[in-house]
Amino acid sequence: MSFEIKVERTENSRLSQLDPENIGFGKVFSDHMFLANFKDGEWKNARIVPYGPLSMSPATSAIHYGQSIFEGMKAVAHQSSDEAIALFRPEENAKRFNRSAKRMAMPEVPEELFMSGLQALLELDRHWVPRSAGGALYIRPYMFATDDYIGVKPSDTYCFAIFTCPVGPYYTKALRVKVEEEYSRAAPGGVGFTKCAGNYAGALYPTALAQKEGFDQVLWTDPLSHEWVEETGTTNFFAVYSDRIVTPALSQTLLAGITRDSVIQALRHLGHEVEERPLSVQELKDSLSQGQLAELFITGTAATLVNLDGFGHRGEYHSVMEQGNQQVSREVKHFLDELRCGATQDPFGWVQVL
Ligand code: PMP
Repeated sequence: MSFEIKVERTENSRLSQLDPENIGFGKVFSDHMFLANFKDGEWKNARIVPYGPLSMSPATSAIHYGQSIFEGMKAVAHQSSDEAIALFRPEENAKRFNRSAKRMAMPEVPEELFMSGLQALLELDRHWVPRSAGGALYIRPYMFATDDYIGVKPSDTYCFAIFTCPVGPYYTKALRVKVEEEYSRAAPGGVGFTKCAGNYAGALYPTALAQKEGFDQVLWTDPLSHEWVEETGTTNFFAVYSDRIVTPALSQTLLAGITRDSVIQALRHLGHEVEERPLSVQELKDSLSQGQLAELFITGTAATLVNLDGFGHRGEYHSVMEQGNQQVSREVKHFLDELRCGATQDPFGWVQVL
């Protein structure tokens, strides 16, 4: 299948207004966006147009019943030439997008449409990829239901879109997380393994409460007993012990992070032992008091890899940062950063240079 993409270039590039030293996160958008529509059972009208507002009916079903999914990925400057940029395992995002689509009764986006739209957009806006250290072009593919009909049923029509925004680092310090025991993010049989919009809306209130208590993020636990650690708001969770690294096993209630998978494979490549298995809050507390727990860190596209200062549980704060020197998290972060930008050879075939 091949898709023809019509391109309408902007006549007023905003690139010169970008201050590379002061980018922030998610507030400045690149010049163009990609759009395609699903109608009469097929994807059509693939096009790139200047970034700008979308007009829609007040009855647009995504707004009412939430058929809305997204992905998050990054392009970074690549050392192979002054203009080269690189994507990291983009086909994994396309696959996860379609797992989300299937669960939300939305049509799949053919991987070829996803990839060709993405590549065409990046070709056009490649100068928006920051070349400053720690900078990247964040890429937001998403799909939402567009029927103007308020009966509750899967929409017949959809819009698939991609826009991008230059970003600096998401978190700039070690984080304090609160082990959440009252609210749940996901349940067995539910939609926790998808990137549907509602998962993020449901997390906002508990996260705001945790922030009022002085935490940065919620550390979600299983919805039944609240004893088992799952993930944080937009990242997966890793515990570094003196002789191994443990991360919660994947399940229906956890988002299968692409950074998570990459970190696991990179750690093993670097000679570390990694276990994917259930991990309880009690185990974290016991291993900390026995001097076995050296580091905690979280992983995700936006955040990349960030250390946790510690975790709060039932009113007590357990400080982990002071236990170790962040040796393992630094080693794997450095390895992945170098691999992404071409400073070290990529033994996995993960990096796609454009
Ligand atoms: N968990 C959740 C809930 C997320 O939204 C994300 C971000 N996509 C992650 C984990 C990390 O996934 P990835 O490494 O693919 O960005």
